[in-house]
Amino acid sequence: MRQRATRDQQRLDSGAITSPKDLENLQREIVSLAKRQGDLEDIVLEVMERRESVQERVAELTERVSSVQGKVDDATARRDAAQEEIDGEAASVTKEREVVAGSVPDDLLKLYEKLRVQQGGVGAARLFQRRCEGCQLELNITELNDVRAAAPDTVLRCENCRRILVRTSESGL
Ligand SMILES: [Zn+2]
Repeated sequence: MRQRATRDQQRLDSGAITSPKDLENLQREIVSLAKRQGDLEDIVLEVMERRESVQERVAELTERVSSVQGKVDDATARRDAAQEEIDGEAASVTKEREVVAGSVPDDLLKLYEKLRVQQGGVGAARLFQRRCEGCQLELNITELNDVRAAAPDTVLRCENCRRILVRTSESGL
């Protein structure tokens, strides 16, 4: 279009066109081409501005994605570390339990396992200050007297919840 305008202008300047009507047409075309060129330049400018704004938005979103990804990576690493710690603890507790279980007579261990299943995971409870820590009930006088009279190796049971009662120096006997 610019070439055409230049060509028109050259023809006008050359003086080759002498007819007033042709001259007028040529001038009109030059004006019209100039206007169209101006319009196109405006459009190009607008497109460039929009492209710039889109590029800014892309950069902003890319940065946000990378920041969120960083947080995800961080959380994943912490979760994995925690999982590893839990696994390690579970392994060591399992080993400890095996050692303890090895020193418990078979029939007592069987009773304990049965109670543990029946009593929501707690098969034995400490007798603490005359109270069964399994069901939290205090033993009555008769029960306490029975506990006091029992030999140290007798397996005692809570009359209320039936759990194995474990005597300690804090049992309040
Ligand atoms: Zn109890």
